[in-house]
Amino acid sequence: MADFRVGVDVGATNIKIGLFDGKMTLVDQLQALTDQEADIDRLLDVIVSLVHRLLAQNGLSIDGIEGIGTALPSYIDYERGFVVETSNIMSLNNAPVRDLLAERLGTRVLIENDANAAAIAEHELGAGVGFDDMIYAQLATGIGGGLILNGKLYRGMHGMAGEIGHMFVSDSTGYPCSCGVTGCVQSISSGAYMAKYATDRIKEGYDSSILNYAGTLTNIDMEAVGKALLTNDSLALELVNRGAEYLGRMFQSLNQIFDINIFVYGGGVAKLGSRFIDRMIAAYRHHSLIDQHYPARFIPAKFGDRAGMYGAALLLGLPK
Ligand SMILES: [Zn+2]
Repeated sequence: MADFRVGVDVGATNIKIGLFDGKMTLVDQLQALTDQEADIDRLLDVIVSLVHRLLAQNGLSIDGIEGIGTALPSYIDYERGFVVETSNIMSLNNAPVRDLLAERLGTRVLIENDANAAAIAEHELGAGVGFDDMIYAQLATGIGGGLILNGKLYRGMHGMAGEIGHMFVSDSTGYPCSCGVTGCVQSISSGAYMAKYATDRIKEGYDSSILNYAGTLTNIDMEAVGKALLTNDSLALELVNRGAEYLGRMFQSLNQIFDINIFVYGGGVAKLGSRFIDRMIAAYRHHSLIDQHYPARFIPAKFGDRAGMYGAALLLGLPK
């Protein structure tokens, strides 16, 4: 009886891979940089060799595991095991990744969108344990999400539900989003676009301590903005107010559609600190019609940047 399983999280920057035992305890893990330019064969070869290395260094063979779950930063056709669209790793597009990996590895493989996988991890073992309905929001370089309805991940008609980053929250604010629309919450409140906004203002001559904390214009990230925020830097305050306001609108719209007010949030944008999160929650409460009657709960994610890896392993189901 195979008691082990592997979870793989392919991100735009890193590939994380974890070996889990029959109690979903993380036994060992490996990490490698993602080569965004690699063709599909090269990309799959990297994953396969990482799996083999991880198993070998734990004295296991492929027959010693019950399968491999893989999270990808992509729109996924879950039923067909197919990647429909990925914005940063182009070679994944239109590839039957599930079957290609299963063929190479000789074991059961399942694939899922990374934010959906993270939602499963938080719901089954993390901050969302005990809630039948919850929404997971990944506030990171991009904004993604996963919907847990009636105790299960809701995938929608094509496996693409929960892409909350493309919720349309303004018709005039923000940059054109990767999807082509201006006014997606991702193009205003994600880490990448908040950093871009700060960089552009500073390039225009705005004097901000964000630049001192970042060192160089290309290094501006949410950590630098968070530090500047602590000194009441006016650009950091503007960024935070702007980013939090539109996230508040996003959560309010989600609540209106699903009548769910359990929000688990994770991702690097939370590095902006409690002032940002408090402002985001205040924006939600300001716009919400029902919050006085049913106050929402905003809960920080438990697994942080390993949620995708845990969730990938949980695609095989909770261990019995
Ligand atoms: Zn968009």
